[in-house]
Formats: sequence, structure tokens, C-alpha cells
Amino acid sequence: MGATVTVRVPAKVNLQLGVGPKRPDGFHELATVFHAVSLFDDVRARQVAPGAGVTLTISGEGAGELPLDETNLAWRAALLLAAHAGVSADVELHLHKGIPVAGGMAGGSADAAGALIACDSLWQLGFTREELMVLAGRLGSDVPFALHGGTAIGTGRGEQLLSALSRGVFEWVFAFAEKGLSTPDVYAECDRLRGTRVTTDPVVSPAMMQALRAGDAFALGATLQNDLQAAAISLRPVLSQVLEVGESYGALGAIVSGSGPTCAFLAADEEQALDLAVGLTSAGVCRTVRRATGAVPGARIVA
Ligand code: C5P
Repeated sequence: MGATVTVRVPAKVNLQLGVGPKRPDGFHELATVFHAVSLFDDVRARQVAPGAGVTLTISGEGAGELPLDETNLAWRAALLLAAHAGVSADVELHLHKGIPVAGGMAGGSADAAGALIACDSLWQLGFTREELMVLAGRLGSDVPFALHGGTAIGTGRGEQLLSALSRGVFEWVFAFAEKGLSTPDVYAECDRLRGTRVTTDPVVSPAMMQALRAGDAFALGATLQNDLQAAAISLRPVLSQVLEVGESYGALGAIVSGSGPTCAFLAADEEQALDLAVGLTSAGVCRTVRRATGAVPGARIVA
């Protein structure tokens, strides 16, 4: 049996997702605050014979819905890294998913980030974090943050990162939906709803930065904001009900995560998180409920 490397990668929630106008390249200019939470995908890379190529298997959350070929972002990450290093892409990849598929929590990006770190180690390439960040940005807007972890401000299309000062641990509850939403569809719906009204680039909320620095969950809850939320609700009206249920159980903040349809609820403490989780489960408005904490580190080798 060949050597193996396992990398654990967190999901993200956007504490703020400010969406600016559409750029000539089709992406939107963002001012976002990424926050890594303790829902994880594990990416395992196993050594195979030279020339064997890439193979991919998947288990866990939503496994059956994902492609097992080069259209999977983890596979593409392995190919990109190999091409960049001038080596042959030979690896057996396995993804064990804890992050919901097409859920607005960057699960696909997590897998790509995990594949970069795992293959870099397995193939003994020794690229620096900075070099891997550049490759990550080419794979997708959220992939650099999956490497970075913690809490960070994202600008550009989300790939330009700056660490944000944050204190303490925040308690989260996530409501997973029955079916995913396509990110391009949600951005397109956002454009449709806003028309030509948005012409200036968004800015990061100073009140949110202050709340993070103070480790103040109440203040953070009051500043959560997502410009894609109206679009996600327009495509999936039940989400407004999910958010209302969370609010009625005392969430300090309730927000659609990224492009949705996962909903994120901030709790004051562990006890309230438990109440929220029970309330959301019993209301029957979502497929499943998960608790998590943030911020947690980005992609890292665990075995
Ligand atoms: O970069 P990524 O492949 O994750 O983006 C998926 C889609 O989300 C893009 O094709 C685009 O439709 C939309 N997007 C966007 N502006 C961003 C990031 C993503 O319009 N800043």
C-alpha cells in the first residue's frame, strides 16, 4: 500500500458578503468577511504507481451528487499542481465530506484546497503557502480562504485575503437544505433583482471589525449581512421561514450562508446553540441541523 496524506479543511460562512457590480470578466467585486467553522471535509491522497493517473472516490454528506472525474474541483487541483510542478499527476484521492454540497459553505473549494496540500506533501514538491495560494486563486474564488482559515477579509472576487483580528470562540448552528443552489444562478438572480442600481464597490463594515476584535457575539450578530440573501430567498422562498424560526429561538443573527441555501445562526453560548438546534430540528423546515464553532484553522495535514 502506498503512502497516504490526509488533510482536514473547514467550511466557511461569510459574516458579511458585500456584492458590488459585475466586472467585465463576469465576476462580482466583493467586500467579504470569511469565517472558517468546524464542519470539515477530509481529503486523503494515496500514492499510486507512476503513470496510473488520478482516481477519485467520495463518502459522507451528499457524496452521490458529486462528479468522480476531472470536473470535480479536487481532481482539477491535483492536475493544476502537477502541471505547475512538471510532474505526472498520479494519485488516488478520497474525499470524506462533512460540508454540505452546493450549500454556500465552500465545500468544493475546501476539497480543492485539501487536494493541493495533500498532493504537494505526497509528491514532496515543497511549494510555499504563498505559491499554493496563487494556484488556489486560479481554481476558484473561495479556494484561497480554505487554505487560510480563521477570519479574513476578502476583496477582488474574494481571492485577495487579509487576516482579520478576532477574539474568542463563536457558537454557530447551521440548517442544511434538502437540495443545493447553484452559485452562478444566485449571482444572476442578485443582478436581476438589483438591476443597474449597484454601481459602487462594497466596503467592509467597521462595526463588524470592532465586534470581532472585541469577541462580542451580540455585536457580531447585529452586523451579519449578506447581499446574496434576497436572491437566495427569491430562488428558494422557504429560506425566509428557516431564518424566522432561528430568530424566534433567540439567534443573535440569522443569515443565508454565502449563496445558500444553508442558513447560519449565531448563538450567545453553547446552551443557546443547543436550544436553537433543537428548535430548528423540531420545526421541520430543513433537512438537518449541525452545530459548529469558529474560527478554526485552514487546511492542514492531520495524518
Ligand atoms: O470562483 P468560483 O468558481 O467559485 O465562482 C463560481 C461562480 O460564482 C462564478 O462563475 C460566478 O458566477 C459567481 N461569482 C461571482 N463573483 C464572485 C465570485 C463568484 O459572480 N466574486
